[in-house]
Amino acid sequence: MKAEILAVGTELLMGHTVNTNAAEIARMLAEIGVGVYYQTVVGDNPERLEEAVHTAVARAELVVACGGLGPTEDDLTRETVASVLGLELVRNERWAQRLMQFFERRGRVPTENNFRQALVPVGAELLENEHGTAPGIYLTHRGVTVVLLPGPPHEMRALMHDHVLPRLSQALEGKSGTAVLVSRVLRVVGLGESRMVEALEPILSSQSNPTIAPLAKSAEVHLRITSRAETRAAAEELNERCAQQIYERLGPAIYGEDEVTLEEAVGRLLRQQGLSLATAESCTGGLIGHRVTNVAGSSAYYLGGIVAYSNSLKAAGLGVDPALIERDGAVSEAVARAMATGVRERTDAGVGLSVTGIAGPGGGSEDKPVGLTYIAIASAAEVQCVRREFWGGREQVKLRAAQAALEFLRRHLLGTVSA
Ligand code: AMP
Ligand code: MG
Repeated sequence: MKAEILAVGTELLMGHTVNTNAAEIARMLAEIGVGVYYQTVVGDNPERLEEAVHTAVARAELVVACGGLGPTEDDLTRETVASVLGLELVRNERWAQRLMQFFERRGRVPTENNFRQALVPVGAELLENEHGTAPGIYLTHRGVTVVLLPGPPHEMRALMHDHVLPRLSQALEGKSGTAVLVSRVLRVVGLGESRMVEALEPILSSQSNPTIAPLAKSAEVHLRITSRAETRAAAEELNERCAQQIYERLGPAIYGEDEVTLEEAVGRLLRQQGLSLATAESCTGGLIGHRVTNVAGSSAYYLGGIVAYSNSLKAAGLGVDPALIERDGAVSEAVARAMATGVRERTDAGVGLSVTGIAGPGGGSEDKPVGLTYIAIASAAEVQCVRREFWGGREQVKLRAAQAALEFLRRHLLGTVSA
């Protein structure tokens, strides 16, 4: 089944609202084996909307439109679709009643415009929206299924889930060539995209089902494995076989799957090992602490941190010897080690993690370029330190330094650190 997603709204065209609905709808359709061939965005303009609907129903077997079902003048989707398909709009009395009640409860009087939301093309099904006043619409006309959904993402999502996907799945059942697409994401860190692709070369070059798509994110790479099969279980089995091959090659570079974040992976390890963590951050300005505390329940292992940006606070707050800073500079291995040791001792943490670096754009020199960063970990047994050089602007350097620090900590906890 060839599908087209039609997102309606001038705010989307202008970039004021990100078209998250299209991405979400595409993912939902993929799950039931419907391939999206086109995604169109059109503004709240009657002629161009008409043209877009025309084009979509001519080239797709399924058109999912979202947005433009509101009660205002610029909400045109319902009327335009009905007119392009040559279908009359009739009032759904049950929904009109619902609208009346909705307004009564709020002590407001509905206008005639509000009742446009109770209009449904002849022969179409009204999909009840529990979260808003615009119902969804589902119809099949001359072999094309057309679905209209309200724009607010939570309303769209609920209607897709409760009404649209079950209907589509049923319509697809028994059709030959139908398949489910199931994806699984492996999250890789500490290995650039090109090095990862090299390590996976034999698997990547022979792929067809599943497909493996590397997606470079900020300082990590996600590998999306997607299998097509007749059932969900069969697709998951294909994914599993492929994932195992990838695990064999990348091993601990994979820190988690699907929605798991690096800070969650680190948190799990700290919990498992019964270790507490304290941080001493210079150039990252608290970013590591922020990420660690993004994880619910992090108070079980994170004690807190000191953002010691100035030399004086490195000395007063962390006990770094000013003579050391004088001798090697604030961005040095010796200072990183002293910061990690200092925060660990002062907070009585199991592990102290520190970062000191030059975020730029100024402050670099020949032997200490912008992006130079030292990351240290102090544990009961030892102090380990790595020297890294990051590229990019100030924000990039901070993001990469925080990412590398969390990764260094993860490797330390796994016992696979190679400083
Ligand atoms: P509408 O149904 O056109 O009245 O849209 C209502 C609201 O939903 C808009 O103001 C947007 O905030 C949001 N919205 C509409 N279309 C999309 C979309 N494609 N992706 C994300 N949000 C959207
Ligand atoms: Mg709109």
